[in-house]
Amino acid sequence: MMILRLPELEGQQGKALRVHEVFAADELVRMHPQVQSLSPVTVDAEARYEAGEVRVEGTLSGSLVLSCSRCLKAFPYSYSISVDERFVRASSGETASEETDEENVHVVDGDTVDLKPYLVELIALAIPFAPLCSEACKGLCPVCGVDRNVESCSCRTERIDPRLAPLAELLAAQMGQGEQKGPNGKPKEPNDT
Ligand SMILES: [Zn+2]
Ligand SMILES: [Zn+2]
Repeated sequence: MMILRLPELEGQQGKALRVHEVFAADELVRMHPQVQSLSPVTVDAEARYEAGEVRVEGTLSGSLVLSCSRCLKAFPYSYSISVDERFVRASSGETASEETDEENVHVVDGDTVDLKPYLVELIALAIPFAPLCSEACKGLCPVCGVDRNVESCSCRTERIDPRLAPLAELLAAQMGQGEQKGPNGKPKEPNDT
């Protein structure tokens, strides 16, 4: 039951109504550039009317396929998000708006609330902005494009890890002695193993 009927909840003060549903949320693929696909979302929550508002508390869970922001590889990502959303009716004369001073409080018009867009929004917010297949992902070489997790290349890249900077200086000094040569003493060539 993804549609909350406010009069029904208001009529049973404090009594919880179970919200248990498995739903597709394919709009997340459009909402978040790193989402490739996703399995149906499970919501398990309770809705109750108390102190002038309808409160929905529970969890959202499921899994997504994200693309790594460094190496672009697809990887699975599971989530379990806690839900605590509150809905209050717009007082007469006011119009409903999405924004109140508290971000989980929503002012609504009418007698029904479709929970789905609020839940989908929660998932979108929980997905990392720049997801990584692993914290240690080395990413793609910005020069030749090889996946540095799989193979190495001998491209010189601008960004040098600050921890390796002293090593890079040392190598540069050594290379200064034998000009014109690649780091391994040979002219640069693609991997020829
Ligand atoms: Zn990666
Ligand atoms: Zn490279």
